[in-house]
Amino acid sequence: MIAGGGVAALEALLALRSLLGSIPAILLLAPQPELAYAPVAVAAPFSANRPRRFPLAEIARSHGADWVQDSLVEVDGERRQVRTMFGQRLDYDALVIATGARRRPWLANSIAVRGAGDVDAIRTLLAGLEQSGIDELVFAAPPGESAMLPLYELALLTAGSIADRGLQGVRLTIVTPEMSPLALFGPPAGAIVRQLLADRGIRLVTGAYPTDLSAGALRLRPSASVPADRAVTLGRCEGMGIPGLPHDAEGFIPIDQHARVKEADGVYAAGDGTTFPIKQGGIAAQQADAAAEAIAAAFGAVAKPRPFKPIVRDMLLTGLEPIYLRADISGGGGDSFEVDTEPLWWPPAKIAGRHMGPYLAQQEPWLSPMTLADRTRPTLAEEGTLADHRGARELALALARTDAGCQECLALTR
Ligand SMILES: Cc1cc2nc3c(=O)[nH]c(=O)nc-3n(C[C@H](O)[C@H](O)[C@H](O)COP(=O)(O)OP(=O)(O)OC[C@H]3O[C@@H](n4cnc5c(N)ncnc54)[C@H](O)[C@@H]3O)c2cc1C
Repeated sequence: MIAGGGVAALEALLALRSLLGSIPAILLLAPQPELAYAPVAVAAPFSANRPRRFPLAEIARSHGADWVQDSLVEVDGERRQVRTMFGQRLDYDALVIATGARRRPWLANSIAVRGAGDVDAIRTLLAGLEQSGIDELVFAAPPGESAMLPLYELALLTAGSIADRGLQGVRLTIVTPEMSPLALFGPPAGAIVRQLLADRGIRLVTGAYPTDLSAGALRLRPSASVPADRAVTLGRCEGMGIPGLPHDAEGFIPIDQHARVKEADGVYAAGDGTTFPIKQGGIAAQQADAAAEAIAAAFGAVAKPRPFKPIVRDMLLTGLEPIYLRADISGGGGDSFEVDTEPLWWPPAKIAGRHMGPYLAQQEPWLSPMTLADRTRPTLAEEGTLADHRGARELALALARTDAGCQECLALTR
């Protein structure tokens, strides 16, 4: 059983089918009829079309699984059963908790961006920039947030939209608790993003987070304030605290390196709902892969399940060409960072899941099935001979369009 209908759930489903074949019954327990896919909240507001949707019933059916529209309420580890919101008791042999985190608004009077449901609010803000008397628009992250990519994307794409429309007098500011932009990706990314923001005229305030938005000012902690007529914030992550399972004070579930939930036999967890501090799609997918391998090992299908070794891969939409970022934070030899305008993994999916990246990319008919893999930069001699190299940019554009669901979004990555 997989509880959830987002990134970790989809990756777990695809990985389990690939490892275990068609035999075991897989049940997907999720309340919403569509795949939760948060990057659309960034790409879609800049397009006139509706974002692309991925129905869970269809995803489940095409992978020999059943989707039950219900929510997990409690886990009874002794009986190996879950209790659901509609009062069902469902048995499991292995259970993957992929229920994500709640993203909550945390700053009064701001627009909190949490996922696909916020597309219209951002669209309305953008559409009203001409008449609304907004001179100062601030993008801010909550304290404790580590995955900042959407904040920078929203600011950069808004700057592009303002320039394209020839709007005068709207000033953009990013406020981040990081000491350097996209600090997760180290000093090289920091330098490039700082330059990018400066080129677009976006002011950057580091080492701070807002406490109050009123009277045309955003008050900051530890000190100072910035002018602000409106603010767009990233929702703050909170754990679900599922009864029957261990969790920390904020409701996040502790797991080991094989994504096994501590003190809960046969239960695994992956994604934003775990105690791992980086709430990011690629990380969620890697945890789901570790869970799938551990389950396959428990069923005797895999001899040595690979542990979760975090590598963060992000594609930053800039309004011009995307920037690919990779940070190996799995330890051992120290962290290593890469930044490039050429894809650092293939296919260059927005959420870099080993199975789900290629699966969502297959919506592009000319891409054959594969699993996601890291790429190294081709040497000059190799460059002309690499069959996929010339297509890299076209594919990146196609995948950005898939996120936004529209032709017009070519402009996002032009
Ligand atoms: C605006 C924005 C942009 C982002 N952009 C990127 C990006 O470009 N790249 C990237 O890697 N990451 C990105 N992320 C982060 C990424 O979306 C998350 O890290 C990822 O979705 C986490 O996956 P998850 O499966 O843990 O949770 P989710 O994808 O949130 O899925 C949780 C699922 O569980 C379901 N659920 C909830 N409660 C229950 C319950 N009780 N029972 C059953 N099901 C339940 C929900 O309906 C949902 O289907 C972005 C996040 C935001 C907010």
